[in-house]
Amino acid sequence: MDDQPTRDVEIMSEAANGLATTILVVEDEENIANLVRFYLEKAGYRIVVAADGAKGIELHAREHPDLVILDLMLPKVHGRDVLKQIRQWSQTPVLMLTALRGEEDRIAGLDQGADDYLTKPFSARELVSRVRAILRRTAPRPATSTETLRFPGLLIHPATRRVEIDGHAVELTAKEFLLLLTLASAPDQVFSREALLSRVWGFEYLGDSRTVDVHIGTLRRKIERDPAQPRYVKTLWRAGYKFDPQGEAESTGDAPHA
Ligand code: CA
Repeated sequence: MDDQPTRDVEIMSEAANGLATTILVVEDEENIANLVRFYLEKAGYRIVVAADGAKGIELHAREHPDLVILDLMLPKVHGRDVLKQIRQWSQTPVLMLTALRGEEDRIAGLDQGADDYLTKPFSARELVSRVRAILRRTAPRPATSTETLRFPGLLIHPATRRVEIDGHAVELTAKEFLLLLTLASAPDQVFSREALLSRVWGFEYLGDSRTVDVHIGTLRRKIERDPAQPRYVKTLWRAGYKFDPQGEAESTGDAPHA
């Protein structure tokens, strides 16, 4: 699932602050560059376009983009060499565009440090979804709190990884603790399963969102008085999970089963 309401809101408010995620598009075909710009601007990103490889390298050095969309066949400097150059000074994620369907070409691109590739022609929808996916998995992990978090009936000590429920310590596994800390560090913020996977488990586990549900289940059995009516970790149907700082039980707290 690529729909992440919270992320969209973030992007829009960043754009309003002049801190929008910047994407450098290195593409010599003007109509493709314009389409890419159109759809990504609509998705809330700031776009800078370079029409050849040399300009691409120059703009990368100047703009420090958050992501580069890089065409392979470029005038002046070939896309492969642009990538090589960029990799000498940064780990900016790169989405390669290629007109070639050859497996070899694709592997070469990924070998040289591209994060993903798209074969032309591609749909706007696919482009936007790939861009979001790359940015999501390369995004810096949000800072979790290092100070003791206090909620009604619940204390979380990040430094010692100690959790107390109604004054009694509970034993959590490392993942359960990180899951709870991630949620409780941003009370009321809705985290999709995918977001929790990438934050708690890291990129390599992307794709198996049931892992999150399983761990939420074991976490609830340890911290909730009634895991079926959770006070702290609430399920938002189809959206994910959030931490309720009030610690109030609600009878509809769990997901309806489809
Ligand atoms: Ca080209």
